[in-house]
Amino acid sequence: MSHSPQTIIIAGGGIAGMTLAVLLKQALASGVQVVVCDPAAAEAAQKAPEDNPLRVSALAADGRRLLQGLGVWDAVSARAQAIASMEITDSALADPVRAKLLSLSGDVGAGEPFAHMLANDDVLHALAKAAVEAGVELCDARVERWLWNGAAAGSSGMARLSDGSRRQASLLVAADGARSNLRALAGIGWHGWGYGQTAIVATLAHERPHGGRAIQHFLPSGPFAILPLTGNRSSIVWTERAADVPALLAMDAEDMLTEIRRRFGLERGSLRLETWPVGAFPLALGVARRFYADGLALVGDAAHQVHPIAGQGLNLGLRDVMTLGDALVEAIRIGLPAGEMNLLRAYDRNRRADVIAMATVTDGLNRLFSSDFTPLRLIRGLGARLAGRSSVVKQMLIREAAGVGASTRD
Ligand SMILES: Cc1cc2nc3c(=O)[nH]c(=O)nc-3n(C[C@H](O)[C@H](O)[C@H](O)COP(=O)(O)OP(=O)(O)OC[C@H]3O[C@@H](n4cnc5c(N)ncnc54)[C@H](O)[C@@H]3O)c2cc1C
Repeated sequence: MSHSPQTIIIAGGGIAGMTLAVLLKQALASGVQVVVCDPAAAEAAQKAPEDNPLRVSALAADGRRLLQGLGVWDAVSARAQAIASMEITDSALADPVRAKLLSLSGDVGAGEPFAHMLANDDVLHALAKAAVEAGVELCDARVERWLWNGAAAGSSGMARLSDGSRRQASLLVAADGARSNLRALAGIGWHGWGYGQTAIVATLAHERPHGGRAIQHFLPSGPFAILPLTGNRSSIVWTERAADVPALLAMDAEDMLTEIRRRFGLERGSLRLETWPVGAFPLALGVARRFYADGLALVGDAAHQVHPIAGQGLNLGLRDVMTLGDALVEAIRIGLPAGEMNLLRAYDRNRRADVIAMATVTDGLNRLFSSDFTPLRLIRGLGARLAGRSSVVKQMLIREAAGVGASTRD
């Protein structure tokens, strides 16, 4: 007797959703039907990415290994910039010299940097191509509703799409971002708060090379990160108090560059904006009360949103993908339904500690550093100096940033 393969619908073709689609289809081939519903994903397969991207991410070593295993890394590696070291400074905007608080460098393995900077669109384009090659169906509609029929009714549910069609599936994966409508419709609570901060993002060209150095200037209004891109280019993630942002965004390019230069510093010579207008992203923390509902799993920002202070949001999402993907491949191989409740509960259990730890660390770092309160400045200075003196602590911090430390899976 031949069984028709189970169908898994992934709502949201951002990096988390697309990576899961490629992982499942490559591992199970004709043993599963994978459908990614998102008009943006269908477009990413067609459109060549821009040379000067606005949205970039630091991809930790474990995420890079995942992309390598899926054969996607080779397509993006030429445009990826290895991060050789990280420097942290703590100063006020007017300080003439930015005192270095901590400097971290080192690889996680022989010749393997702890992180690379990549354009989000480069990764999405390569994933979309790999998905099509593997046989993933890219569907040009959004998922509007998910109705679960129950385990007794063949463990399947029905997705209603924005084009009016309906699709039956064994599992719906909601990878529809931090403001996930599917999470809300499933009645899953969201615990978190807004930071009253906005991240201003831009790509800059500079006269002198960066040497692979990522720099985080901790300023009273929030961190100002300088992240190396290929060539003499860097991306900035400039966190400001939300109330001050409209006036900054109203500036013309020349005034904006002057403000950026005050924070960026002079060591890399003259600066030029490669992207205009700049991007602006309101920052918030949020963790879903559960990462599952009936026949539904949450992955990526739909499950958790963290402050970009440590560049870990996407990396957390890729760890969801590894955990859920492995569990689904194993279950489907032995003929279990993909939406099986025990599998979904185990996924939640396996991811929760890592997610809560990262949410707590990023929230704490932001509170500790986005402040000019003198006792806090003293405490962070002392903590960083102690960490900087110990090569064991430094190596531990590098391994945690790479996603291969003791608190994450190896
Ligand atoms: C300024 C900034 C800097 C950052 N830097 C880093 C970094 O350096 N490293 C890092 O790891 N992370 C970083 N992050 C976090 C990272 O960008 C996010 O965690 C990541 O992009 C989330 O990916 P995702 O696939 O889960 O969701 P998204 O990228 O939000 O994708 C969701 C997709 O779902 C689609 N969608 C929405 N609703 C539906 C629906 N109903 N049906 C179908 N599709 C739907 C949307 O069109 C979208 O394509 C940063 C974030 C910010 C704001």
